Amino acid sequence: MSQSVCILGVTGSIGQSTLKILDQHPDKYSVFAVTAYSRIDALSEICKQYRPKIAVVPAHKVDELQSVFKQKNIQGVEILSGEAGLIAVAEHSEVDVVMAAIVGAAGLLPTLAAVKAGKRVLLANKEALVMSGDIMMQAAKDHHALLLPVDSEHNAIFQCLPQNYFQIETHKEPQLGVKQILLTASGGPFLNHTLEQLKEVTPAQACKHPNWSMGQKISVDSATLMNKGLELIEACHLFSIKEHFVTVVVHPQSIIHSMVQYVDGSTLAQMGNPDMCTPIAHALAWPERLTTHVPPLDLFTHSQLDFTAPDITRFPALKLARQAMQVGGLAPAILNAANEVAVAAFLKQQIGFLNIPEVVEHTLNQIDNASAEALDVILNIDQQARQVATQRITQLSR
Ligand code: NAD
Ligand code: MG
Repeated sequence: MSQSVCILGVTGSIGQSTLKILDQHPDKYSVFAVTAYSRIDALSEICKQYRPKIAVVPAHKVDELQSVFKQKNIQGVEILSGEAGLIAVAEHSEVDVVMAAIVGAAGLLPTLAAVKAGKRVLLANKEALVMSGDIMMQAAKDHHALLLPVDSEHNAIFQCLPQNYFQIETHKEPQLGVKQILLTASGGPFLNHTLEQLKEVTPAQACKHPNWSMGQKISVDSATLMNKGLELIEACHLFSIKEHFVTVVVHPQSIIHSMVQYVDGSTLAQMGNPDMCTPIAHALAWPERLTTHVPPLDLFTHSQLDFTAPDITRFPALKLARQAMQVGGLAPAILNAANEVAVAAFLKQQIGFLNIPEVVEHTLNQIDNASAEALDVILNIDQQARQVATQRITQLSR
């Protein structure tokens, strides 16, 4: 039977790659709901082609979408709006699979709603898990949701872990012969830049990733290595493991997507061409496999694979994220909020590249940590961290 899919963030890079995979398997999947924050014309084209039952946009975009639908004679697509609309489609009884591909904290509530509704949730929106790791993982357990990693590294680790790894209780120590996780990082576009050079880099340079084509926010995160920091936290939650069992390895070719080391000396790696369609197809079909357009890896054209340790002097964001995970509680949510605000300011050229980790560190130092047991506490701290980060940015940009 065909699976009904809801794509949160359909106009984004992951949303588009998801459609590309669904296009290749029209007998297996149908698009039930789609959401977008801007790019209403792109959304309307998607609605014209896929005829979802529901489209969700922010309240201030409803009129625009309605009139575009009229112009293009698109009928039968119900329009919902705002956070309530996002939650409604994420937990809709007719939805089987939710692709969580909104960027940032805005994805938290809809992703959690999908988990609580017991869906197969394909998790791209790492910020949601970074903010609410314990709550999200517990909800997945309580509501029998399948939370499957789309982030290429976590998808690789998932594939390299023992089959029965996810049936055992929460543990925090490596189990079943696992010794440690090797989380690979491309190192981003500025891997070999000096601190002096990093001071001067522009948003356009930061958004030009050597191996992957992605949204602006994650591109900047890849350039600061905050992306790897967020992924470190993501891995700790997904694989129920303490942060010191996760080692970051810089591997500029992005051919090995991550590895798992075992106590007997084995290291398992998942490899492939850097294309998000592979992890998306994997998460959609697991434990089965889908054919995709991604060409098989030609090892003769990738004869050299390099590995180095990350440099936390030039890329302090990674150190800040590791510390936040060590401290636990609300620290990861504070880190995430401050980073979102700082990245947005960098993209608007209000602050420099090296100010991003500085704003994050400042915000972490300014706010008292506490336990992250309740969602409202997390949402509150997210707002507070945004205010502190914004104030710091104002000071820096004077
Ligand atoms: P993107 O910027 O290309 O797309 C983001 C999507 O979210 C768009 O559809 C946008 O309309 C929507 N959106 C943005 N702000 C919103 C808001 N306030 N409310 C509701 N919707 C909103 O981003 P992307 O590169 O597709 O990344 C999406 C998520 O996937 C991020 O969390 C990112 O870290 C993660 N991810 C992306 C990649 C990649 O290759 N692009 C890889 C791994 C993980
Ligand atoms: Mg990744």
